[in-house]
Amino acid sequence: MRVHMVCILLVIGLLPLYAGMHAMRALYWEYSFEKRVEQMKEQGTALAGQIAQTGYLQQQMQPEVSARLSVLANLMNGRIILLNSNLQVVKDTAEREEGKTLISEEPIYAMQGEIQTYYNEKERKAEVILPIVVGANAENNGQVIGVMIFEGSLADIVSAQELFRENIVVLMIGAAILLLGAALVISWCMIKPLRTLSGQIEHAAETYEGTEMIKSTGYLEVEQIAEAFRGMMEKTVATEKSRQEFVSNVSHELKTPLTAIKVLSDSLVLEPDVPIEMYREFINDINSEIDREAKIVNDLLALVKLDKTSGEMHIAEVNINELLEIILKRLKPLALKRGIEMIFESYRTVLAEIDEVKMSLVFTNLIENAIKYNRDGGRVMVSLNADHRYFYAKIEDTGIGIPEEEQGLIFDRFYRVDKARSRETGGTGLGLSITKSAVQMHKGSIKVQSIPGVGSIFTVRIPLSYVLTVQ
Ligand code: ADP
Repeated sequence: MRVHMVCILLVIGLLPLYAGMHAMRALYWEYSFEKRVEQMKEQGTALAGQIAQTGYLQQQMQPEVSARLSVLANLMNGRIILLNSNLQVVKDTAEREEGKTLISEEPIYAMQGEIQTYYNEKERKAEVILPIVVGANAENNGQVIGVMIFEGSLADIVSAQELFRENIVVLMIGAAILLLGAALVISWCMIKPLRTLSGQIEHAAETYEGTEMIKSTGYLEVEQIAEAFRGMMEKTVATEKSRQEFVSNVSHELKTPLTAIKVLSDSLVLEPDVPIEMYREFINDINSEIDREAKIVNDLLALVKLDKTSGEMHIAEVNINELLEIILKRLKPLALKRGIEMIFESYRTVLAEIDEVKMSLVFTNLIENAIKYNRDGGRVMVSLNADHRYFYAKIEDTGIGIPEEEQGLIFDRFYRVDKARSRETGGTGLGLSITKSAVQMHKGSIKVQSIPGVGSIFTVRIPLSYVLTVQ
């Protein structure tokens, strides 16, 4: 990113500079060339006038004209050639072409009265070709009696331009160094908050600590990224903590029955003459511990399965009244054992789109708890109602209740208010977390109200239409 930034800054800085310099150089060339040609035209025209007047083309007897020709040619570091009307060279300040006839396009055009200018790039020369005219006045263009070819050197302008080019190169290198420095400083300043942020994130990701330190000051965008990362890291840390807690709880829960089995079997193995009654009793205990272990494993599997198949819902329209009646019938023997009365109150027939297996798990767990944590001879009331969007199932008991401060915790995995009682009743502490997961998968909610010693009410609210809730 930094390299990109430096490159972009360099290009942005150098390109306009280079273009500006190039344009200036072209302008300088154009201006100097035009000026030089103008000067040559002016002086050439004046001299051509004198030549025409003095008859110099016929006889080169005027030394002052010859002197002026030489002076002008020298001044321009060039050469002047005079041609008569037959295009014969009558005067060459370089004394090379005298007497020769020049037959080419340019003098012919000049003989027709045209002034022409050329630039000879190879020899770095400007060439002005002028007609020599007599008898020209306001009404008359006069008669062309000869041609003046005036060559002037442009070496001085070309060298000045080359110097300019060299200076541009030096200037560009200087500007590039300066810009590079500036670009490095600017990019460092811009990237610094990102570097700090990445360090903070790395530290938090490695140690799962210092999440609250992930913050950035400077740029709003970086602050927003920092905030998003902080939120993400907090969630990750919480998930990791709950994972660790879960693993340690699972290990502990699975170890408890195993330890009991080990103690019981050890006493049987180490004792030499164990009476048969004791054998029976201990084997019975070992058997119930194995049952307990199996129940924990089964509940864990149910929980994992719910997590895994969260996307897989087998939705169908189910009559909730019938479903509740079947579950109550199935649990009746458990209630009867302790003289608990079960009442079902239905306000209307409820048809809802649900996953029947998962919803059965919800109701079974809640009604089973209402029986388990009830007093002998108590009551369990199940009621069902609905409005246009949801159905409500209420499971009410006259049991031991749940202290207020623990009502928020009972849905956590392995949480039990009274461990000893839960163990007695064969509880694993997983029932309510399974229930909550299944309710959430239906986009529903579950609430508890409870008064210790009086009883508890669990209310489940589930949308009647599954598709509607997913949208
Ligand atoms: P468990 O297998 O122990 O019943 P649950 O997850 O079903 O586990 O319940 C968690 C804890 O919540 C129970 O151990 C019990 O202390 C408390 N609890 C649940 N339902 C009731 C209820 N109807 N009355 C009183 N306490 C309850």
